[in-house]
Amino acid sequence: MTSDALSNLLQEDRRFPPDDDFAAQANATAALYDEAREDRLAFWDRQARELLTWDTEWNQVLDWSNPPFAKWFVGGRLNVAYNCVDRHVEAGHGDRVAIHWEGEPGDSRTLTYADLQREVSQAANALIALGVGHGDRVAIYMPMIPEVAIAMLACARIGAIHSVVFGGFSAEALRSRIEDAQAKLVITADGGYRRGKPASLKPAVDEAVAASPSVDKVLVVRRTEQEVDWDNTRDVWWHDIVGSQPIDHTPEAHDAEDTLYILYTSGTTGKPKGIQHSAGGYLLQTAYTHRNVFDLKPDSDVYWCTADVGWVTGHSYLVYGPLANGATQVMYEGTPDFPEAGRWWDIVEKYGVTILYTAPTAIRTFMKQGEEIPARRDLSSLRVLGSVGEPINPEAWIWYRRVIGADRTPIVDTWWQTETGAIMISPLPGVTAAKPGSAQVPLPGIAADVVDDAGNVVPDGHGGYLVLTEPWPSMLRTIWGDDQRFIDTYWSRFEGQYFAGDGAKKDEDGDIWLLGRVDDVMNVSGHRISTTEVESALVSHSKVAEAAVVGASDPTTGQGIVAFVILRADAGDGGADVVAELRAHVAKEIGPIAKPRQILVVAELPKTRSGKIMRRLLRDVAENRELGDVQTLADPTVMNLISSGLAKSS
Ligand code: ATP
Ligand code: MG
Repeated sequence: MTSDALSNLLQEDRRFPPDDDFAAQANATAALYDEAREDRLAFWDRQARELLTWDTEWNQVLDWSNPPFAKWFVGGRLNVAYNCVDRHVEAGHGDRVAIHWEGEPGDSRTLTYADLQREVSQAANALIALGVGHGDRVAIYMPMIPEVAIAMLACARIGAIHSVVFGGFSAEALRSRIEDAQAKLVITADGGYRRGKPASLKPAVDEAVAASPSVDKVLVVRRTEQEVDWDNTRDVWWHDIVGSQPIDHTPEAHDAEDTLYILYTSGTTGKPKGIQHSAGGYLLQTAYTHRNVFDLKPDSDVYWCTADVGWVTGHSYLVYGPLANGATQVMYEGTPDFPEAGRWWDIVEKYGVTILYTAPTAIRTFMKQGEEIPARRDLSSLRVLGSVGEPINPEAWIWYRRVIGADRTPIVDTWWQTETGAIMISPLPGVTAAKPGSAQVPLPGIAADVVDDAGNVVPDGHGGYLVLTEPWPSMLRTIWGDDQRFIDTYWSRFEGQYFAGDGAKKDEDGDIWLLGRVDDVMNVSGHRISTTEVESALVSHSKVAEAAVVGASDPTTGQGIVAFVILRADAGDGGADVVAELRAHVAKEIGPIAKPRQILVVAELPKTRSGKIMRRLLRDVAENRELGDVQTLADPTVMNLISSGLAKSS
């Protein structure tokens, strides 16, 4: 007998089969699944030959003789930057735009692949001049400007390991990451534009580096031209040293298993971990997924991923995947609401964006603001929409497709993690009949399942824990400097399987629905209930834009459900009527067991800097505890607002 780890409550019956015209031109076909099922390693072998250019062929696709430490494309050698830049120029695409960059104040720059080749080569020469070599760590703490991609590619080109730290993080967060990786060089800028003002970066670097003996030099890009303190023995302007380097640099081949980068996780659940990725398998899976999940056509698409380069989405789908595929893409420096709420849609219209990849938090914010804002822009160029970062509530999915995608575009809900390096579970546009709210199926070449507490696979129609059952090319190789934590965190919960830390269910068709973090699952009168399902029920009410749900200890039921909701702009002020209405609505959508004990209307929710809801802080509020660690919270004042609101209402 298997016991359910999660009750399966919410029903969603809407289906969106692929459109015939789209399917006829799609990169992906159903045959990919068959090919990968027949021989998974032969499948990856073929992808590696077709999508990347290698200097030396591998002698083994996967070495899994010492699990959980994988080696992919053993003996293979390649240069990641050559694959992302030079080979496109050699193939005659030097004039193709690689990056349409849009600054927040409205300035812009266009870089072709030939421009990128020159600038990456110069930057690589500059790194060498600064004493950086193969295997050295470089911390990158920058705004969203082209130099951030150039810096990453320059590191990759010489085999230095980058560790990008999100520019919104504090000096202390930067310092601890520099220390953990023992970085030798920090690349930064004077500042970047946020919400109409120059925000500074250099002071945080000065503070962090003062306490970081490993750092020799700080390389600084001039962006805002604000005043900066300067240490002549340590600080170097990018335009001085990079600009004066030769424009040629011959890329050397590196081992497929050489470390490409370290990236610390977002810290939604606790202390960030330094996730380590290696060159060959990572580049392959980002290129493969970017081509098939977004249906990328390099000579006609204009692709835009809105993620900050400080998150894994920015690494895999703003730098490595798209550039390996020779894509033309948009990169935007600033906030979505500057100078006004329609800025993103202006950018879509201006560049004729065809593929948009963003996060549920952004979509729910747009829902809150109202659909008149996107309706005033021409979004007809869009043909594929993507979502990543959190479960997308079915109602937000429907809104995204109807309002942004003109009720026509496929939506790909892509599940993956910093640790997985690339997309793992997602529909394929043109192939999969989409279900709003479900990431659905592991991609061809990927093996995932849902298991119960004892590690047994649950039957269709049941819930449990998401696991990855076979190694994959872009998997993390370890946690930087901490093999034991790597084993303990991911490989010890279930024998021989990767434990993702997310709850999931399989529906009657075997499709996978992500149900939130295992740490967030609620236990109400013996039923294990997912936060995602109750949140989705709340968001399906026409007055609700966003909801966060937690379980708070309850003397009778074990845990009681406490919901925090943000109303849509046109929903009124949310008095007692709305609360009663919403409680009844949840009871109707998923059953009386899931009816929230308490509902609070709030103006904001606590989110990480990557935009994810931090439920553990809401649980602290709901249980009247002192707040846990708020370091990774985007706006710490949000918690005071919520706590005082709770005190008033109870
Ligand atoms: P930390 O691991 O430090 O707590 P984090 O898990 O938020 O931070 P990321 O690696 O950026 O760091 O996020 C991966 C997580 O995001 C997944 O484990 C999952 O919980 C969530 N996620 C990402 N994409 C989706 C999706 N399409 N559907 C549901 N959940 C998703
Ligand atoms: Mg995580």
